[in-house]
Amino acid sequence: MADVTGFLKIKRKEAGNRPLNERVCDFSEVEQVLNSEDRMLQASRCMDCGIPFCHWSCPVDNLIPEWNDLLYKGDWRAAYERLSATNNFPEFTGRICPASCEHACVLNINQEPVTIRENEVAITERAFAEGYIKPVPPKKRTGTSVAVIGSGPAGMAAADLLNKAGHNVTLFEKDEKAGGLLRFGIPDFKLSKAVVERRLSLMEKEGVQIRTGAHIGKNIPVSEITGNFDAICITTGAGHPRRLAVEGSEFEGIYYAMDFLSAQNRVNSGIIPFTENKIVAEGKKVLVIGGGDTGSDCVGTAIRQKAKSVTQIEILPKPPENRTPGNPWPYYAKILKTTTSHEEGCERMWNISTLRFVGDGRITRGAEIEEVSWEIADGKYVMKPIPGTRRIIETDLVLLALGFEHPVLEGLLDELGLDLDGRKNVKVNDSMITSHPKVFAAGDTVTGASLVVNAIASGRRAAKEIDRFLR
Ligand SMILES: Cc1cc2nc3c(=O)[nH]c(=O)nc-3n(C[C@H](O)[C@H](O)[C@H](O)COP(=O)(O)OP(=O)(O)OC[C@H]3O[C@@H](n4cnc5c(N)ncnc54)[C@H](O)[C@@H]3O)c2cc1C
Ligand code: SF4
Repeated sequence: MADVTGFLKIKRKEAGNRPLNERVCDFSEVEQVLNSEDRMLQASRCMDCGIPFCHWSCPVDNLIPEWNDLLYKGDWRAAYERLSATNNFPEFTGRICPASCEHACVLNINQEPVTIRENEVAITERAFAEGYIKPVPPKKRTGTSVAVIGSGPAGMAAADLLNKAGHNVTLFEKDEKAGGLLRFGIPDFKLSKAVVERRLSLMEKEGVQIRTGAHIGKNIPVSEITGNFDAICITTGAGHPRRLAVEGSEFEGIYYAMDFLSAQNRVNSGIIPFTENKIVAEGKKVLVIGGGDTGSDCVGTAIRQKAKSVTQIEILPKPPENRTPGNPWPYYAKILKTTTSHEEGCERMWNISTLRFVGDGRITRGAEIEEVSWEIADGKYVMKPIPGTRRIIETDLVLLALGFEHPVLEGLLDELGLDLDGRKNVKVNDSMITSHPKVFAAGDTVTGASLVVNAIASGRRAAKEIDRFLR
């Protein structure tokens, strides 16, 4: 198991990020790469800790101590084989996973955890660079067909495994290019689209048919899918945004985060010319409403578009700097997160409620806000306005990053008439099957808005169940 005393000799060393002044001038990835020697030394910090809590906390059950050991010994190829045994796309998770594994690393009790996420991406990039990730089409086809609808990480993972199992898989995507939120949500500075393209191209060479511009329930009738495929997997995400029902929220100048982010992603991919992007932050006082990751991605994008100023507000209290007694190791630490985008120049405020927008059909003055406090009453958090704190935050571009409520129901899901759970997500049983006898579902459509690693895990589970069903 790596070097049993490695953690005593070697300190955590992260690859770090590109210099701030340089990176805000482009949309290239922010995170840098460590040299191979240092990377292997970082793997040596993985100790033989008996119960690998990292493995327990990883949603795809990555065999972390095993590949860290192989990496430390310089057997990069075997390390990739162990890694890809549980994770279809470690090049995505190695870049953008919040790494619950590192929160659960035993070293994290009183030292700095192993750089598990960075080790993961390093192993995978080496595998691509050395050319041992090659298309491996299945030797035999089963003769059965599967439609996977929605090409985000859940759909990609399901399509990849089902194709490898020999089924004829068609991956349908309504947008111009496949990849789901990996493509049109997450900014290039976190995940280069070349990385997404590379994997999709590999899957196509292995036999997955990818059909873009195919909006099932809109330009392709649902009956065409149910009639022509032996099984269907719905992985259409959770695209219904949470709204802000206050005065003036319909004004020009107020947009959903996804409209802003996807427009920039389309410009970066050459799908729309720079001059046709209608939502541009240049020279504007930008207000991002919502303190989560999507909000942070809006911050980084607005800064790269040369916004005059960027402010991010959140209705909830500021998270603590350190773990609280109610949130012990090895659970994911619910603590203050400062992203690279925040470092690039943004004012952050917590306990702020938005009351109305001030303007005349378009936002002219700004947003009226009020400070709030949170109290616990009958076991529930109750928000209380703080009198005398109302004021205007000046802004001429508002980005709503309040999260997503549930999947888009109009069209495909309504037509299929699938049962939904209490949150309007698609309801599946333990076998990932919906209320329709040959329709399965996975990813955010089932769980509600979540993470790439959870979507991959869910897509893998659905693929296993669909394979069992077809056989
Ligand atoms: C801005 C942003 C940043 C994020 N950053 C991170 C991050 O850093 N790390 C992380 O782990 N997670 C992140 N997430 C969350 C993560 O992207 C999602 O949890 C994940 O992509 C969900 O995968 P999915 O496959 O279930 O759905 P999606 O990725 O949403 O893909 C669903 C796809 O289905 C398509 N579709 C929908 N309806 C139809 C239809 N009727 N016909 C055909 N196609 C259809 C959609 O166009 C879409 O391409 C982020 C999310 C957002 C919005
Ligand atoms: S997928 Fe995420 S949780 Fe799992 S090992 Fe990689 S970084 Fe850690």
